[in-house]
Amino acid sequence: MNVPPGKKKIGINTQLAHGGYDPRDYHGFVNPPVVHASTVLFPDAQTMKTRNQKYTYGTRGTPTSDALCAAVDALEGSAGTIAVPSGLAAVTVPLLAFLSAGDHALFVDSIYFPTRRFADSMLTRLGVEVEYYPPEMGEDIASLIKPNTRVVFMEAPGSNTFEMQDVPAIVAAARAAGAVTMLDNTWATPLYFKPLDHGVDISIHAATKYPGGHSDVLLGTVSANERCWERLWDTYLTLGTCAGPDDVYQVLRGLRTMGVRLEKHQASALEIASWLETQPGVKSVLHPALESHPGHAIWKRDFRGASGLFSFVMDGGGEPQAHAFLDALEIFGLGASWGGYESLAVHVSLGDRTVSARDYGGPVIRLQIGLEDTSDLMEDIARGLVAASRA
Ligand SMILES: *Cc1c(COP(=O)(O)O)cnc(C)c1O
Repeated sequence: MNVPPGKKKIGINTQLAHGGYDPRDYHGFVNPPVVHASTVLFPDAQTMKTRNQKYTYGTRGTPTSDALCAAVDALEGSAGTIAVPSGLAAVTVPLLAFLSAGDHALFVDSIYFPTRRFADSMLTRLGVEVEYYPPEMGEDIASLIKPNTRVVFMEAPGSNTFEMQDVPAIVAAARAAGAVTMLDNTWATPLYFKPLDHGVDISIHAATKYPGGHSDVLLGTVSANERCWERLWDTYLTLGTCAGPDDVYQVLRGLRTMGVRLEKHQASALEIASWLETQPGVKSVLHPALESHPGHAIWKRDFRGASGLFSFVMDGGGEPQAHAFLDALEIFGLGASWGGYESLAVHVSLGDRTVSARDYGGPVIRLQIGLEDTSDLMEDIARGLVAASRA
């Protein structure tokens, strides 16, 4: 079901339930077929020469990948979307599409660590000058923009510490200099923030997180506006980074329920974050939907909601207290990633920060709030805090 732009407006959950695929396209089956394909046959030599048919080879799209990418386009308001094998590939492919030797690229300092590693190692080796900016910089980013600045890469809120950024102000400064803007939008999903509506050129998602939703699939999506789509698509074909059909299908399946899951993640995380602010042993809670958060006004202005991932700072102590907290948890799992149905906790390392490095006054613990009952989760956290206070 694809509602033409400008026609009647449908609700977000209706869009999630039906977007990207019309059951009448495939014998009425509610879900699209999972097309496992390399070769696509042509009816005759002339068609094979001109490639004048909808599908031509597995790397160039299938009915399965088209269904997911069309659904994401409708959510993002993008001209086109590619599906790649991981969230990290969704970061690296657009950077390779728009950066060349001699270019300068700005990255927010609170970036997802593997994005920084790619920038510092591979982009630097390829001759790109990489520079970091503090997340709170806003329009002042203009002072860091050079004649060869080609890309400004944002992530809002920031990884692990959840700083907000003034996206429209940064976009305005980047646009004035002719730079392409990219934003890793994994935390908010297109339900709670739509980067392209705020002038961003490219929206990036680790679909591994909320779209997948079950900690059992790796996938990334990259959505571009009209201005950037052709170059992104061309790079995708050049690199050969297509995602596998089963993973694409799993993510489309996840999208159908993402709205209701996110509502629950949002409500539970906010309840727990507010409660944590009153708990002994907690110095502060880093969640942009809390009024105490320094980026709250920006979050309220630009975002429609908050997902289930935030951090809190323990009141003093160090690694022994952090480990005592984590080891006392019985429901929260200890592990990387997030966006699944189950709660997770991790002691985050902030040693990679350069221009925004600061002392938080205690260990920073990141919580992914899953779909369990909040009373059980709070009991688990309380158990951890008691253990930490004794460590
Ligand atoms: C997890 C994550 C990624 C990478 O996703 P993978 O599928 O694990 O490679 C990228 N950006 C952000 C913000 C993430 O949280």
